[in-house]
Amino acid sequence: TTDIYYDDDADVSTLDDDTVAVLGYGSQGHAHALNLHESGVNVVVGLREGSSSRSAAEADGLTVTTPADAVSQASYVSVLVPDTVQADVYENAIEPNLEAGDTLQFAHGLNIHYAQIEPPEDVDVTMVAPKSPGHLVRRNYENDEGTPGLLAVYQDTTGDADERALAYAKGIGCTRAGVIETTFQEEVESDLFGEQAVLCGGVTSLVKHGYETLVDAGYSPEIAYFECLNELKLIVDLMYEGGHAEMWDSVSDTAEYGGLSRGDRIVDENVRENMEETLEEIQNGEFTREWILENQAGRPSYNQLREAEKNHEIEEVGERLRDLFAWAEEDETEAENDSVE
Ligand code: NDP
Ligand code: MG
Ligand code: MG
Repeated sequence: TTDIYYDDDADVSTLDDDTVAVLGYGSQGHAHALNLHESGVNVVVGLREGSSSRSAAEADGLTVTTPADAVSQASYVSVLVPDTVQADVYENAIEPNLEAGDTLQFAHGLNIHYAQIEPPEDVDVTMVAPKSPGHLVRRNYENDEGTPGLLAVYQDTTGDADERALAYAKGIGCTRAGVIETTFQEEVESDLFGEQAVLCGGVTSLVKHGYETLVDAGYSPEIAYFECLNELKLIVDLMYEGGHAEMWDSVSDTAEYGGLSRGDRIVDENVRENMEETLEEIQNGEFTREWILENQAGRPSYNQLREAEKNHEIEEVGERLRDLFAWAEEDETEAENDSVE
């Protein structure tokens, strides 16, 4: 069984003699910096000249400087700029200012696992990855709740890498909920697979195919939207609470029989093969090579795919329906609060 670490397994005062540089003040950055700060850790935020996040970090009462200066002040560097710029920030601001015995930490292992960043041998390299968007990491902490997280040690030169990463995980509130130990490889490959095959790619594709099948057969777009997209949330909420069992228990016997007898016909062996191919491209580095080249070329395919997705009929139908029905109003207020936090 997997070891899970809780508050009792970690001690924030392990970092008493450290200064933690939090590079980036976006989704994860703002949450880590504020939670650590309120946990009594010495934090300095590193942002580039002219950064649009600077005023927010300063208004939150944090010390802000450039990434290079933050790294040279710090003994613990938390890299929370977007994955696509990390190699560049590493080369220009981090690497020249790292010292032996420092900790270099990530919230996602992509750049280390695919060797876009190759740290020197005399620093610890760790990962603390909250399994949730940054705004929830912050909100949970403020509500005395935790956010589950993953912890991994890629390189341990001080002999304390684990203990230090656990202290950090406690500082941002993760050990309140539980922290699972993993490796960079497992975190990266499973994360990419999950978002591509199931969570983001698989689900939206399933929804679009369902919607199109109904609309092409003459059913109204509004009905198709409710059946194939809107109700998905209610089903997922039940799965989240009590697994598939709770979902099957809650739907009608008709839905249960229909779903159990037809589900594997929809998502069949072909889909399974496609998933395996997708996983292979992740494992052999093909996906990441493609993504790096895509960024270097100015994101032409990415922009095209985004545009096509935005222009799908289901988006227009959804916008209209969300305006007409009350459920969306609450959600939008919540979303606004999120972005203000
Ligand atoms: P964001 O996109 O929210 O980070 C934006 C921050 O990075 C801003 O402060 C921005 O400042 C700064 N930034 C952007 N480009 C540069 C640059 N070239 N040089 C210096 N600073 C820059 O990132 P996330 O929080 O989404 O992701 C951070 C890490 O956390 C990633 O490794 C990600 O995989 C991981 N992660 C993210 C999760 C999430 O929910 N978002 C969940 C778990 C892990 P500026 O105003 O200057 O642009
Ligand atoms: Mg993920
Ligand atoms: Mg991801």
